[in-house]
Amino acid sequence: MGFISQGLIGFSESTAPSRRIKAVQFGILEPKVVKELSVVHVVHPESYDENDQPVENGLADPKLGTIDQNFKCATCEEDSAGCQGHWGHIELARPVFHHGLPRHHQENP
Ligand SMILES: [Zn+2]
Repeated sequence: MGFISQGLIGFSESTAPSRRIKAVQFGILEPKVVKELSVVHVVHPESYDENDQPVENGLADPKLGTIDQNFKCATCEEDSAGCQGHWGHIELARPVFHHGLPRHHQENP
């Protein structure tokens, strides 16, 4: 049993054996990898249409996952308890620096 029981927030307990985490490493993915992992190219700023349905290729595209218990994820077909969510991506019109990148480059030249 984990420190915070998932059962308290509506998720069932995992049957996977528990392991102690020894380390966590963060990094920056190349844009090509981000696109390969992405299930949705978000091109519409609207999340829902006039009928309150998620807009395809919008911010609430059903392929990104679901938090609604009445719908299944369009990517993995799991419900809100089983789907962990999926990546989407937005292509910006111009390159933009992430505020954390200059510090990352100073620490990892
Ligand atoms: Zn899913």
